[in-house]
Amino acid sequence: MRSVKIENVSKQFGQVYGVNDINLEIKAGEFFTFLGPSGCGKTTTLRMIAGFYYPSKGKILFDDRDVTRLQPNKRNIGMVFQNYALFPHMTVDENIAFGLQVRKFSKTEIQYKVDRIRGQVHLAAYGNRKINELSGGQQQRVALARALVIEPDILLLDEPLSNLDAKLREETRIEIKRIQSELGVTTIYVTHDQMEAMAMSDRIMVMENGLIKQIGTPQEIYHQPEDRFVANFIGETNLIEGTIQAINGENVQVRTLNGHLLTGRKQQSSPSLTHMIGDKVFISIRPESIQLGTGDNTLTGKITFVEFTGISVNYIVDFTAFSLKVMIINSYDQIKKIGEDITINMAHDSLYLLGE
Ligand code: ATP
Repeated sequence: MRSVKIENVSKQFGQVYGVNDINLEIKAGEFFTFLGPSGCGKTTTLRMIAGFYYPSKGKILFDDRDVTRLQPNKRNIGMVFQNYALFPHMTVDENIAFGLQVRKFSKTEIQYKVDRIRGQVHLAAYGNRKINELSGGQQQRVALARALVIEPDILLLDEPLSNLDAKLREETRIEIKRIQSELGVTTIYVTHDQMEAMAMSDRIMVMENGLIKQIGTPQEIYHQPEDRFVANFIGETNLIEGTIQAINGENVQVRTLNGHLLTGRKQQSSPSLTHMIGDKVFISIRPESIQLGTGDNTLTGKITFVEFTGISVNYIVDFTAFSLKVMIINSYDQIKKIGEDITINMAHDSLYLLGE
C-alpha cells in the first residue's frame, strides 16, 4: 500500500499530447478513479504509472521512491484489463498461481496464497475449473485474484467491467469494491462510466484533452462541478445562461436571456467565476433538484416531453429561451401531459453558478 505522486508529467506522441503537465497525489489505500471521455488521457496516465510508457517530462513517485524510469516488473503492481488476458485452457488456480511461479515461491506457499485469495474473491470451490467454463463476471474475479495474489503495492484496473452485461457489471462492481476495501490496497481505476466512478471511488479525477478538469470526492464532483464540462459529464444537468444582475451577501441574482430573475448562492470554490455584476454565467441545476409548485425561483412553462420510468416522472419544460429537464422522484401525483402548463421552483441552494 503506497501513495502515488505525479509531478508535472507530460506524455507526447509526436505532436499529440496524451497528457499535458498533470499533477496529482493518490493517497495510500485510496480508491482513485480516472474518468473522462475517449481520448482524454486516462490510459496514457495509467500506463505511465505501470511503466509501459515513460513520461516525456516530469516525475512519478511511489511514496518517496522515484519510479519514473523503472521497468514495469520492478514496480510491484497488479493489473486487470478489460479483456481479462487469462489463459483459457488452464484452471483457475493455474491462472492465479502464474505470477507467484514467476517470482519463484515454493509449492506450499503458492497453494496457501492461491487458496486464500480464491476465497476472498468468492471462488473458493472453483480452483479446478477451466477458465472457459466460467461466466464473464467469474473470469474477471479470477483476473482480480491473479493481480492481487502477488500482494501488489498498487492495483491498476483499466475498464475491467466493460465486457460484462449491465446486471453483471453492477454485481462485479460491488465485489471489486468489497475486495478492495477489505485488502486496503491503493487502487487506480480507469473508466468512462460516471455512475461506476461515483459508486466506487474515494476520489475521482475528471480529465478532458490530456488535462485534469477537477479532482474531488464523488459528492464534490457532483454537487460542486468547477466548470460546464464537469457539470455536463457527471450526471445530467440543466445549464441556463444569464448575466449577474445583483449581489446581496451570499445571494447572487442572475437575469436569464429571456428576462427571468433567478437567485442562487455565491460559490466559495469555483475558479471559473469572479462574481462581478455584469458577468456572463451559467446556472447549473440538477433535474432532481427541481420541485413542483411555488417556492424559491418559481417559473411556469409548457411541458414538451414526459416519461415515467418507475423511479421518477421526467418532464422537459419549455420556458422560451431555455428548457429544463425536471425529474420528480417517487411521486404518486397525477402525471401531467404534453402541452399542459406546469409550475416549478428551485431552492436557492440548489442553483449552482459556473463561469463561462
Ligand atoms: P479511451 O477511453 O478511448 O481508452 P483514453 O482516455 O484512455 O481513451 P488515451 O488512450 O490515454 O485516452 O489517449 C490520449 C491521447 O493520446 C489520444 O489523443 C490518443 O490518440 C493519443 N495516444 C495514445 N496512445 C498513443 C500512441 N501510442 N501513439 C499516438 N498517440 C497516442
